[in-house]
Amino acid sequence: MTLSERDQKYNWHPYTQHKTAQSHIAIVKGEGALLWDEKGKEYIDAIASWWVNPFGHSNEFIANAIYTQLTTLEHVLFGGFTHEPAVLLSEKLMEILPQNQEKLFYSDNGSTSVEIAIKVAMQFFFNKGIKKTKIIAFENAFHGDTFGAMAASGISFFVEAFKDSMIEVTRIPVPVKGLEKHSFEALENLVKTNEYAAFIFEPLVLGAVGMVMYEATALDQLISICKEHQVFTIADEVMTGFGKTGKNFACDYLQELPDMMCLSKALTGGTIPMAITSFTQKIFDGFYDDDVNKALFHGHTFTANPTGCAAALASLTLLRTPEMQANLVRVNENHLAFQNKIKQHPKVVTTRVLGVIFALEIKTDGAASYYGSLRNKLYDFFIENGLVLRPVGNIVYILPPYIITDLQLQKVYQVVEEALEIV
Ligand SMILES: *Cc1c(COP(=O)(O)O)cnc(C)c1O
Repeated sequence: MTLSERDQKYNWHPYTQHKTAQSHIAIVKGEGALLWDEKGKEYIDAIASWWVNPFGHSNEFIANAIYTQLTTLEHVLFGGFTHEPAVLLSEKLMEILPQNQEKLFYSDNGSTSVEIAIKVAMQFFFNKGIKKTKIIAFENAFHGDTFGAMAASGISFFVEAFKDSMIEVTRIPVPVKGLEKHSFEALENLVKTNEYAAFIFEPLVLGAVGMVMYEATALDQLISICKEHQVFTIADEVMTGFGKTGKNFACDYLQELPDMMCLSKALTGGTIPMAITSFTQKIFDGFYDDDVNKALFHGHTFTANPTGCAAALASLTLLRTPEMQANLVRVNENHLAFQNKIKQHPKVVTTRVLGVIFALEIKTDGAASYYGSLRNKLYDFFIENGLVLRPVGNIVYILPPYIITDLQLQKVYQVVEEALEIV
């Protein structure tokens, strides 16, 4: 039996209707931007394995850092103890995080980093005896799949079954071009009520809904509205962090600074699950008290896992090399050239580029559903042609590892262009 056949016996896959899904492709090796399946077929990983892998698969520099850490101190509890990888990683992150960020809380994945931010926002006001328990989020946002993160997410069919069991979240429109005013007004009306603890957002790019983009000036405006009304702002940089937008963080494009940031995905270069939520001193001080009950009673068993920290340190080193920064520019320039070429195509409605992120929307007759037939047809075409791409409805996006070669990128563009002929 093949791995793919054996897989079906016990494994339950994410976002999968097993009754109608095809069997899962078994990958046996990865190197750089390439993956190989058990039959020897080669794929270009054009979405960096769900946006986690900037530096390529099986990266030796990160692997060596992990090995050294594993054979020095693989793990120790972070309650009552600390260790050099966490201390060093925090110091290094402080060098690149927005200057108002002062405290870091470690966890395991993007969803937990969001849960922690939401819990902190709510408890901050609870500790002061102020009733602010609601959250503001964008329509069609994605913040993860655990309960708090799911409540903040607005992609409806992800959350439909649970909607009566969640914290209260109110949505405002994304301030895409032309809709900025609607977004500002909606936010102003909410913050005035004094019922909201925080506004959570994906800065500049909403990933899961299909790389929907909006301007930094609009986000500045939204953040300043929140500041005026003591509503905390949470920048969910789980997708955008560590270079995706061309800068270290999407928030680096802003004048206003968020109160909290959520980091995961590329944090460890796509190797070990880890996340961080960062905070201002003011937020930390809201928990700092002689009363033990005002502490943040939240933790995960593998919090600040030393091996994960070592992987993140190695990743940060790679990200900050001139070569990697040059890759960010190079991928962006390739995207812009392809955008220029493809935007006039009769089947293309619109295109978007920011940093290493490229997206195009394909003209359709009706509404294309998230996991609908157009999407499946495109997905199958890409797989057949050796590309890992996961279209969202009628949106095809590319988010490659930064080290993808020009030649590999040209192949990706060529297949995307060919796909326009089959729809
Ligand atoms: C992927 C993602 C998450 C959730 O991260 P997980 O590690 O899958 O839990 C949260 N927020 C954003 C913006 C994401 O892209």
